[in-house]
Amino acid sequence: MMRQYDDAKQACGDALLFFRMGDFYELFHEDAKVVAKVLGLNLTSRDKSNAVPMAGFPHHQLDSYLGKLIKQGFRVAVCDQVEDPKTAKGLVKREVRQIVSPGTITDEALLDPAISNYLVAVCPPISNKKKSRAKSQPPGIHARGEAAAEAIFGVSWADISTGQFFVTSVSQNRLNDLLARLGASEILIPDRWDDSFALPDIMHTTRPDWCFGEKTATELLLKQFKVASLEGFGVVDFGPQAISAAGAVLDYVNETQKASLGHFDHLQAFRQSEFVEIDAATWRSLEISQTIRSGDHNGSLFGVIDRSQTPMGSRRLGDWLSNPLTNTKDVLSRHDAVEELVNRQSVRNELRDSLKSIYDLQRLVSRVATGRPSPRDLSSIAKSLAIIPTLQEKLAKTSSDHLQRLHVELDPCTSLKVELEKALIDSCPISTKDGGYIASGFEPRLDELRNLSKGGKEWIAKYQKQICEQTGIPSLKVGYNKVFGFYLEVTHTHRDKIPADFIRKQTLKNAERFITPELKEYEEKVVSADSEAETLELKIFEQLRELTRSHTGRLKANADLIAQLDALAGLAQLASEQGYCRPTMTDEGETHIVEGRHPVLDIVEPLGAFIPNDTTIDMDQGFLHLITGPNMAGKSTYIRQVALISLMAQIGSFVPAKSAKLSMVDKIFARVGASDELSKGQSTFMVEMTETARILNTATNKSLVILDEIGRGTSTYDGVSLAWAIVEYLHDQIGCRTLFATHYHELTELERDFAGVANFNVAVKEWDEKIVFLHKIRPGSADKSYGIHVARLAGVPQWVNRRAEQILERLEASGDLEENKAAIQSSGNGSRSEFQMTLFGPVSHPLVDKIKALDANDLTPINALQMLHEWQTELSEKE
Ligand code: ADP
Ligand code: MG
Repeated sequence: MMRQYDDAKQACGDALLFFRMGDFYELFHEDAKVVAKVLGLNLTSRDKSNAVPMAGFPHHQLDSYLGKLIKQGFRVAVCDQVEDPKTAKGLVKREVRQIVSPGTITDEALLDPAISNYLVAVCPPISNKKKSRAKSQPPGIHARGEAAAEAIFGVSWADISTGQFFVTSVSQNRLNDLLARLGASEILIPDRWDDSFALPDIMHTTRPDWCFGEKTATELLLKQFKVASLEGFGVVDFGPQAISAAGAVLDYVNETQKASLGHFDHLQAFRQSEFVEIDAATWRSLEISQTIRSGDHNGSLFGVIDRSQTPMGSRRLGDWLSNPLTNTKDVLSRHDAVEELVNRQSVRNELRDSLKSIYDLQRLVSRVATGRPSPRDLSSIAKSLAIIPTLQEKLAKTSSDHLQRLHVELDPCTSLKVELEKALIDSCPISTKDGGYIASGFEPRLDELRNLSKGGKEWIAKYQKQICEQTGIPSLKVGYNKVFGFYLEVTHTHRDKIPADFIRKQTLKNAERFITPELKEYEEKVVSADSEAETLELKIFEQLRELTRSHTGRLKANADLIAQLDALAGLAQLASEQGYCRPTMTDEGETHIVEGRHPVLDIVEPLGAFIPNDTTIDMDQGFLHLITGPNMAGKSTYIRQVALISLMAQIGSFVPAKSAKLSMVDKIFARVGASDELSKGQSTFMVEMTETARILNTATNKSLVILDEIGRGTSTYDGVSLAWAIVEYLHDQIGCRTLFATHYHELTELERDFAGVANFNVAVKEWDEKIVFLHKIRPGSADKSYGIHVARLAGVPQWVNRRAEQILERLEASGDLEENKAAIQSSGNGSRSEFQMTLFGPVSHPLVDKIKALDANDLTPINALQMLHEWQTELSEKE
């Protein structure tokens, strides 16, 4: 057996090996030590003389342990018994059934239903230096040197649980942006990967270089798709690296799944120009799919706006958010569909009601294609198909092109549905193990066998009654076990009444077990009928599975249409719940938003708590807005709100505003100053500047840029100067719509010299000795001394505030701290004595005089209170 173990271990590379032994999965050697530590399992050994470390768990806990290890970044191979131990001769045969890693999970229990699980392969270009070194490698990716010069990476990604498979090529500086947006679970790279190029913090798996060979890849893809050329997929112009990456994905999936992959039926070309470019920093700072602080899906834009009824709809919405559209026509087509569903509430409600009963068709079809469906999976497919005619009926009432297309293209697959419905019982089990899932009336022979078995069982029940009467043993029972089959059990109390023709089989502590020839005769009938029924049921199941598998393409297409419909209906539901408006899309470079809201706060804050704001970005009002205002005023929220509204509009959604006229954007950039964001590794200011450089180098006049406190990560003068120069550059060289939230009041001067720059500030009010943030954006720059102002309101001692004002005044006079040190210091001394005088010196004040004149001994408590009240009134009148 250990030899068998070693072979399996050999076959599964660096994966931890779960080795099935009886009812347990066991791990040995180093693997055992690892899981003992990571999972807290007991470390034991099988036999004391040869102490091989071992750890294990009961087989039904597989999912839970698998899940935990994969979350921690391990790869796990599951080795199962592939023979029935009862019938096996000698050692039971075992085989590695599946190798599971974060990117290759297919198990429902381990997958998040609402999120696509992408496995990504990245094929780097061949540098000339490495090319000469790598002579022994197969040709292919090496064939075209020019690709290397541009540093073009081939990228391919697939979700094994749905069969979606994409390919593209990107330049090196965009690679990590793409990976961030995909939310990849695992990245495959070739051995020859240049480690100086850092990948995001995601599990990466190094594969032999030949897995990335273009020729191998092409052959593999052609074979998988059963085509003669890849031309038809429109992927060839992405270059050889892209094909290699796609091949590497497929090769890895083949190796780990050890199953057929019929659901991988085509390769989709991903063309960057069709989608709004959103880089990794923007993706993170807009919190589109994860929040910055906790990295959670909940609380992100996606987590908050998703109203889909099926996991397919949720995943589609996630994909749309990653890839807002740049083509106006496509955006309008989605807006039309959403509008129709917003306006026709009853159609929307009916559709959403029906969608609720549809199962995750994409993942079901994948399980069928990989040969691992359960009876319940097939039944769920039938039940989902049964809803399609209802959807079509509702869609028939619609008129927008998009919904009409869904109506026409949905395919009820009636014959498959009818067959599955006829064949399967209503509540199917999740395993074929106990049989009973094929409906009666489907197969006459099966019914016959079931009747035989049932008849036998009925006979046995009658027989028990009859024997009880004959023998006068009231407690006599018929029982069944696997060893003796049916038997009669008599307790020792009635030992003397046992007839002579009973054949003794077993003696227990307080009973004896017997058989009789009649009992055996019926047992034979029951058992053979049961076993024949089981075999027949399995055979029928396999036929159903094959029938379903032959519909893979049609089912996948349906799943895709349902995902679209669900996502659109979800957006309509959201729009209607939250009172969104349909944005008007233009190409004129302007943005007019009336009463815009931040899509996340709008939902998570109590109704009415969020203060809406207008935004007008155009040539008259300026296209580069500088927003000043104290901390907590709402600057960051406001600028993000504008970016998110733009993004939502371009995925086809309505937007949280009273009205909106938006220009299509080609790229959205969002940057947050270093001190405002947690960042690991590099110096945060370096990160801030690198990210800002990206904008300056790649933004166009069609881009939307939001800058939040850029320049804050360095000293004040450095920061102001940089921010200043950045604004000038964006204004003069790029001319893109920009919102810049800054606490550098100095920047507001720019408005004077630059036509496109406009100042805005966020209103703050002092009320009842508290600061009230009005969260209202208004034209003009903020009150210069708002910092000190806020400090005063916040209860900082008055002396500190006065002193701060003095220093500020000096600094503003010449702007240099060093030069002014002496002056500031002397002014400080002066004011300190002045202050001390006011506090402790002989100041004359009517109140002080009154206090002095007072004879405290002559005062009743009521008098004292009254006087106190008078003085207070007097004082407040004076102020
Ligand atoms: P700043 O960037 O000016 O420091 P933030 O944008 O971070 O301010 O906002 C501070 C807090 O004020 C946020 O936590 C948010 O809850 C609240 N806030 C911001 N804008 C609004 C608004 N328009 N309506 C209601 N609350 C808001
Ligand atoms: Mg802020």
